[in-house]
Amino acid sequence: MSGFEDAVAIVTGASSGIGRASAERFAAEGASVVIADVDREGGEETVERIENDGGEAMFVDVDVSDESSVEAMVEETVDTYGGLDIAHNNAGISPSYAPTADVSVDDWEQVIDINLTGVWQCLKAELPAMVESGGGAIVNTASIGGLVASGSAPYTGSKHGVVGLTKTAAVEYGGQGVRVNAICPGVVETPMQQQASEDSTEAVDAVTEAQALNWMADPAEIASAAAWLCSDESSFVTGHPLAVDGGLVAQ
Ligand code: NAD
Repeated sequence: MSGFEDAVAIVTGASSGIGRASAERFAAEGASVVIADVDREGGEETVERIENDGGEAMFVDVDVSDESSVEAMVEETVDTYGGLDIAHNNAGISPSYAPTADVSVDDWEQVIDINLTGVWQCLKAELPAMVESGGGAIVNTASIGGLVASGSAPYTGSKHGVVGLTKTAAVEYGGQGVRVNAICPGVVETPMQQQASEDSTEAVDAVTEAQALNWMADPAEIASAAAWLCSDESSFVTGHPLAVDGGLVAQ
């Protein structure tokens, strides 16, 4: 495959799960990929996996909730690879469930800082770099929790926020050649999901069984959607939150 030949991509949260699968997919299609994460060890493993497959990648240590860290990520990308064409803003966390009235302020702020402010910080730094590069495509990882009530209040609130941010940036930057979409995954087999299963197998089983396709998605199935949204095959699609959820929100 060579859909992203000569393209430069950033994937946040690429040390694990969906982000790693997306980074591997972009690299397999020819992109130079920046593996951006707080987890250096996992990130270096992703780089090694890509290099072993003949691809190009580098690790950049970033905390998406920190403005200067995100600015440095984009600066290092442009300095190293000469521009920015694709970004998958995917880093996120999922707290243990608590009913809305029992959520602590600390838990609320941590989830909003990473899942929502983090995506906004990334957009803030990436959009000007993409405009400078002549245009590009961004995909933000939301969740079915960005479309319907699913998970705790901070998680669902943050993911609905990601969908809103996606639409706003799409409207603002379409005229400058940047498309911005979101993916809303259902249940995906990743370390985050394994942790959720350890917290409550029943809750994860219930969501999985509520999907028309009642299996846990492989991260590569989400990466396929991200690759399509970042490719020219979706050239007239922007501002769209794409459910990649085995039919859960169709019901
Ligand atoms: P994961 O835990 O396997 O990967 C998340 C990655 O984000 C990790 O590598 C982690 O180090 C990184 N990260 C966390 N905080 C960060 C920060 N502040 N700065 C930079 N990197 C940070 O989880 P995953 O399941 O692959 O989740 C990826 C995204 O998909 C998340 O946004 C999650 O909310 C979303 N999602 C996952 C599922 C699922 O079922 N797994 C479903 C819907 C949405």
